[in-house]
Amino acid sequence: MTTFDYVNPTTLEAAGELLSRGDLVTNVLAGGTNLILALENGSLQTDLVVDIKALPELKNIHFNSNSGLMLGAAVTLNQVNAHTDIRRHFPLLFETCKDIGSCQVRSRATVGGNICCALPSSDLIPTLLCYDAVCHIWNPGGVREVPLDRFFKGDQQTVLAKGEILVRISLPAPVADAAGVYNKLQRGQGEYVTLVGTAVLARNINNSEIDWRIALAAAAPTPIRIYAAEQVLQGSIPDKAMIDHAVECIKHTIKPISDLRAGAAYRTTMAGILARRSIESVASQLLGGVH
Ligand SMILES: Cc1cc2nc3c(=O)[nH]c(=O)nc-3n(C[C@H](O)[C@H](O)[C@H](O)COP(=O)(O)OP(=O)(O)OC[C@H]3O[C@@H](n4cnc5c(N)ncnc54)[C@H](O)[C@@H]3O)c2cc1C
Repeated sequence: MTTFDYVNPTTLEAAGELLSRGDLVTNVLAGGTNLILALENGSLQTDLVVDIKALPELKNIHFNSNSGLMLGAAVTLNQVNAHTDIRRHFPLLFETCKDIGSCQVRSRATVGGNICCALPSSDLIPTLLCYDAVCHIWNPGGVREVPLDRFFKGDQQTVLAKGEILVRISLPAPVADAAGVYNKLQRGQGEYVTLVGTAVLARNINNSEIDWRIALAAAAPTPIRIYAAEQVLQGSIPDKAMIDHAVECIKHTIKPISDLRAGAAYRTTMAGILARRSIESVASQLLGGVH
């Protein structure tokens, strides 16, 4: 590891000023589960690491049944899991977080860090896409809001400019009658990178209209919502023909890569299988009144 300076400012202004320095390569540090590994293995070099964990604005979780959920970017995955309102009103978020990494990883890894890594294989992002999450990005001029599905520019690339900090993520108010599932495929013990993941969320609006959301991990250069497949299912509990059609839409839309973990054809086949399983499971939960 090459040497670098470390600072832990206590105000956003101080953090932003340091991160904006044009004469230095600067990086935000949150939980460090990704950044420290990159510094250690030499894939990233930096002059200055700015720790954001002492910034109070980034550590809050606030839930209101009318306005929804505000998650500070430096909230850890274990803090998400321990929050009773999240468990109750955003069960898909709870279920997704509890299966990310190990307990030790979840005690360090933050929501904002998972998003800002912008890895195609992130498990958290598809679920947040299903919940219509919005990113709140701080810069010296104020806070701008970017819907999560417009936050990614490509594999490990985001819309964040130098000096900008993701401060929080907001999720709109939940619908009481909803069901969701995140299914992921990993290679096995000791291997945490998801080969393909499918998040499906269905919300029963006004006791009549079912609103479907589908998003995938490791199926394209960024985690991706599959709006065409959602349209196929929209409005009802789908029958087999509708599910077949939605699965075909997913398989035609995604563009997974081939790498040392899996080939593109295998990922595409497994995306279809996992998506079918997720849709069927969500449909039966809604039918059975298990929410
Ligand atoms: C053993 C292990 C198992 C794992 N298992 C899984 C898994 O099952 N599923 C999964 O999805 N991931 C997994 N991960 C990846 C890990 O969960 C993510 O890397 C983690 O969420 C990143 O969060 P962090 O707080 O540690 O980010 P950091 O490492 O601190 O930062 C990551 C990147 O985001 C930037 N950044 C962080 N926060 C902000 C912010 N608020 N504003 C602007 N930029 C910011 C940093 O500069 C850096 O570039 C695993 C990692 C390890 C080491």
